[in-house]
Amino acid sequence: MSSFSGGLGPRARFEAIRELTSRTPRKFDPPRDANGKRLAISEFYGMHTFGLRQMKEKLPKDVYQKLASTIEMGKKLDPSIANTVANAIKEWAIARGVTHFTHWFQPQTGSTAEKHDAFLSFDDSGHVIEKFSGSQLIQSEPDASSFPSGGMRTTFEARGYTAWDPSSPVFIMESASTKTLCIPSVFISYHGDALDEKTALLRSMDVLSSKAVELLHKIGLKDVKRVVPTLGVEQEYFLIDRAFYQQRPDLVMSGRSLVGGQPPKGQQLEDHYFGSIPSRVQAYMAEVEHELYKLGVPVKTRHNEVAPSQFETAPIFEEANVATDHNQLTMEVLRKVALRHNFSCLLHEKPFAGVNGSGKHNNWSMGIAASGPELDGDNLLDPGQTPRDNLRFLLVLASVLKGVHKNAGLLRASIASSGNDHRLGANEAPPAIISVFVGDLLSKILDEVEAGAGTRGGESAEAAVIKMGVSKLPEVMKDNTDRNRTSPFAFTGNKFEFRAVGSSASTAFPATIVNAVIADGIAEVTGYLDAELKSGKALDVAILAAVQKAAKETKAIRFEGNGYSEEWVKEAEKRGLQNLRKTPEALEQLISPAAKKVLTSLGVFTEAELVSRYHVRVERYVKNLLIEVDTLRQMVDTVILPACMMYHGALASAVAAAKTAGVSSPSSGTCDKVGTLIASLQTKRAALESAFHKVEQLGSEDEKAKFLSRDISVLMAEVRSIADELEAIVADDFWPLPKYREMLFLS
Ligand code: ADP
Ligand code: MG
Repeated sequence: MSSFSGGLGPRARFEAIRELTSRTPRKFDPPRDANGKRLAISEFYGMHTFGLRQMKEKLPKDVYQKLASTIEMGKKLDPSIANTVANAIKEWAIARGVTHFTHWFQPQTGSTAEKHDAFLSFDDSGHVIEKFSGSQLIQSEPDASSFPSGGMRTTFEARGYTAWDPSSPVFIMESASTKTLCIPSVFISYHGDALDEKTALLRSMDVLSSKAVELLHKIGLKDVKRVVPTLGVEQEYFLIDRAFYQQRPDLVMSGRSLVGGQPPKGQQLEDHYFGSIPSRVQAYMAEVEHELYKLGVPVKTRHNEVAPSQFETAPIFEEANVATDHNQLTMEVLRKVALRHNFSCLLHEKPFAGVNGSGKHNNWSMGIAASGPELDGDNLLDPGQTPRDNLRFLLVLASVLKGVHKNAGLLRASIASSGNDHRLGANEAPPAIISVFVGDLLSKILDEVEAGAGTRGGESAEAAVIKMGVSKLPEVMKDNTDRNRTSPFAFTGNKFEFRAVGSSASTAFPATIVNAVIADGIAEVTGYLDAELKSGKALDVAILAAVQKAAKETKAIRFEGNGYSEEWVKEAEKRGLQNLRKTPEALEQLISPAAKKVLTSLGVFTEAELVSRYHVRVERYVKNLLIEVDTLRQMVDTVILPACMMYHGALASAVAAAKTAGVSSPSSGTCDKVGTLIASLQTKRAALESAFHKVEQLGSEDEKAKFLSRDISVLMAEVRSIADELEAIVADDFWPLPKYREMLFLS
């Protein structure tokens, strides 16, 4: 925290500005061949991962085949081959200078955890050797007591262990001059309860696959073996100079600025979006991408975002579990590389009030793995070319609508966090109301199916589908005009985009819930189809009848208009859709009887696991808010008030000195104004203090969460608005905190 004595604070701020003007884009060292020639991306992509391709070269054929089928079928590794696999991995890693290994897992903190062990061991004659056994590869026991478990561990007395998830390749993490072998793992208790975010994700992928395969077999696609949810995660972030960051206790402590006046120019000129990328930032992005390519993360797109100093990176989509790991790595690399470039990468959903927040659009679809070449690799949300494909598409679409409609509360809960509260419901991000956008053409088609197209008799189902024009969809969607950026769950041509996920969130939980919710929708629609088939309808007609039923039931969730508008809030209420504005109320959806029923019957969570997730999230919410309150209080007391007092004193002395000297004296108006604002800031700050103590006296975390979201956030906003008013009149020379206009517009 910048101390404020005799102008030292502002001096640091000015020094930061000066430092910044001499910064140059950092040159990094890209991978080169033996002759020093720069390697093409394809020549070094994945060089720090040991995946199937490398294993094939290194492992005996039978071991490789066992491993490959383990991975393909999403099964546990056969212990009989573990030692051979571990040895191959060890040799590969040691050849690259790796000294330590770790099980890399995702506890319910939203980030990743690791505990490093050296390969170091003694052989029988006491010589030091590098050792890494099959059992060390497969399983490890971290001291898990300080990871959040939401009461699970006390309930079950569950010690936890981590287990390799072979579907995600092992990788080498470089940090300064150390290299560590990371083994992507799940984290479970000895009773089998999921203590992490990954286990449930894998379960949700399994159940989605089995429900989807069942449906596809029913419509005659017998050679479908598996259905895999795919995920492409667009990641938004802010970059500010590190010299500024370090002078903002609020950014350091809570990830967002708790005070800060609006700059005269924000994003209203819309000159940043897709604008040319500043060269310092460009150099940063290039290094980030290089690091990620080495790790086999397929980042593809980079551009400026809407707000000043806001940027985005997006990868090529992958299977949901791998995409989730890769998003975690992306966030880590974004943060780490930023430091090398004297930037700070802010992943918070709303680092700056008044300018756009950051999201993490989860592009989601399902891919087919089939024994025959016609279906293998097909995207289930691709409208396709033949009337047959189109019927399949409509059935899948109806399942998505059904799943989202029935479980909207769960989807809302899956993205709830203190950071995301500043985004959802503010008129800039998808609203807190869950709805689905499908576009004009699909809306029209669904309306026609609802009205009975293809099921009334007189025309065949296939003819009806042709007439409705589903086959035009791919072209319509490609031209990109039919977009709705205000929808939390939007169809974008051949995938859905869950846009409401927060930028700092792990995608594991939202992806788990999307998979589960849609598995549920598929199961429901499969039931409809069964009933229609039983009543003797031909398959095509039965399909349209099932789609019709789902379309009718889910009509309320479809919304094509402006999700940011006040009218939508009213309209949604009329339709009976929930509007869960804040985290505490959204999280309650996790433990509703309906949610418990769906998630436990799908086998994605046990009831205890679900309740524990609820507790972990409520606790995290409370902690985050308490940190914010405490930081704000300290900033007011130790930074803002002292600066204002000093300025007030300076003004008062000027007025007094002029009077004494008998010269015409300046008006005391500004001085009075500053004095009045100081007094109201002190009053509000006292109110915040007593509210803070009230929280401590509340019994349960639930009550604390509600009180914080209802009362304290209002008080914080009031404190802020006075502080911001002061910022606007206190002389620049006296103001110690870097201002929005400096942090956002200087780079
Ligand atoms: P858009 O124009 O909708 O932004 P892009 O092609 O740029 O589309 O893709 C945005 C993101 O969606 C990328 O991360 C991409 O990999 C991902 N994506 C594309 N197709 C799929 C799919 N079938 N499943 C999951 N994600 C996908
Ligand atoms: Mg997008």
